[in-house]
Amino acid sequence: MDKQERMKIYKEAEDIWGLTAQYDQAIEEMGELIVAINKYKRKYFAGEYKGNNSIEENLAEEIADVKMCLEQLESYVGEEKISMVFEKKLEKLANLIEFMKEERNDK
Ligand SMILES: [Mg+2]
Repeated sequence: MDKQERMKIYKEAEDIWGLTAQYDQAIEEMGELIVAINKYKRKYFAGEYKGNNSIEENLAEEIADVKMCLEQLESYVGEEKISMVFEKKLEKLANLIEFMKEERNDK
């Protein structure tokens, strides 16, 4: 499905349930992703949920849900604005990585 089709669906969702509900849905999906990440961590780092193969599927599902909600929120806030902030954040992370590498080399 291309972006134009996705945007059409987001607009239809907004028309049916309203803008506030779209923000509420994003909050709910992010909460579900938090739970999914935590369960994934408990499976792989604490040995819980052995034999439960739905943990990975659930994580993928919640990542997809949040990705969809973020694309929707991005369209409300403005893609260009988000892109500019995103680039600045990436640059800041890259600078921090360089700093950390230099710190390690100094020791
Ligand atoms: Mg969900």
